[in-house]
Amino acid sequence: MKVLLFGKNGQVGWELQRALAPLGEVVALDFDSPGPLSADFSKPDAVAATVRAVQPQVIVNAAAHTGVDSCESELERAHTLNAAAPGLLAHEARALGAWLLHYSTDYVFDGGGNSPRAEEAPTSPLSVYGRTKLDGEEAIRASGCKHVILRTSWVYASRGANFPKTMLRLAQERERLAVIDDQVGAPTGADLLADISAHVLRTALERPEVAGTYHAVAAGETSWYGYARHVIEFARALGRPIKVAPDAIAPIPTSAYPTPAVRPKNSRLDTTKLRTTFGLALPPWQAGVERMLTEVLTRGPA
Ligand code: NDP
Repeated sequence: MKVLLFGKNGQVGWELQRALAPLGEVVALDFDSPGPLSADFSKPDAVAATVRAVQPQVIVNAAAHTGVDSCESELERAHTLNAAAPGLLAHEARALGAWLLHYSTDYVFDGGGNSPRAEEAPTSPLSVYGRTKLDGEEAIRASGCKHVILRTSWVYASRGANFPKTMLRLAQERERLAVIDDQVGAPTGADLLADISAHVLRTALERPEVAGTYHAVAAGETSWYGYARHVIEFARALGRPIKVAPDAIAPIPTSAYPTPAVRPKNSRLDTTKLRTTFGLALPPWQAGVERMLTEVLTRGPA
């Protein structure tokens, strides 16, 4: 079996290179990959030619414009990467009879209320990122290709820039920190998402009726403030030189930290459909975060 992976060097893409390997031959590309196969989503004809040349049974798309704030001023690029390119991949998948596995986000919702959203809950994105990701989902669904869309949230990895790593750096530099406490969600490891992806694909290849949209996040919930505290206290317990005192981390409302993109306050996603369809257990978010921190903080010279 041949799997064509786009976005191989991103947080999720990097972990997918590992998790997809047992499925068969993985042709893994990023937008600046050298060689004849183009994976630059700003060049749709070249990307379509890549799919036709590789002739995969499965396409996995981990590439996206994930700069939530920069999307606000880069509308065209956000649309190209997050909506047009997934639509094109879906069109090519349909023509080949291939599966398409794609990732989306809790930002397709408006974040009202306090309960976890199910897959069929009404969407209403607040940002360009959320709007373009939703447009990408809809293009895939409209294409008629065999697909699975995994909506996730608050992704971190030991590779790449992300919230826990930023908090670790700030906690070593500053005596005081202020972190948003009224946005709630589930930090989700790229490694967990990649393992879920491989399991989902194996199942889908045997049971095509599982095609559809699923929510895939770690179990439990926290705010950015709770997340930051957990990261910092874990690092302190590992003996890292943390400057900020526990009582010098202040919870603040979103209104005190304005950003170009509006983020949903309620990022809770209901994972019942994923767990029951695929027989999966999702670990608490703290388990993956602690594993990633242990890897990042105890990595010494070989
Ligand atoms: P990353 O930003 O880590 O990776 C995105 C990938 O897209 C990178 O490999 C990047 O390449 C690639 N890329 C950038 N520009 C182009 C282009 N012009 N053509 C082709 N590829 C390009 O994202 P994540 O791994 O965190 O996200 C994976 C998926 O999960 C995305 O669909 C995202 O929307 C979704 N998601 C992510 C969340 C998060 O918190 N990060 C939350 C919810 C959903 P390079 O590294 O070389 O720049």
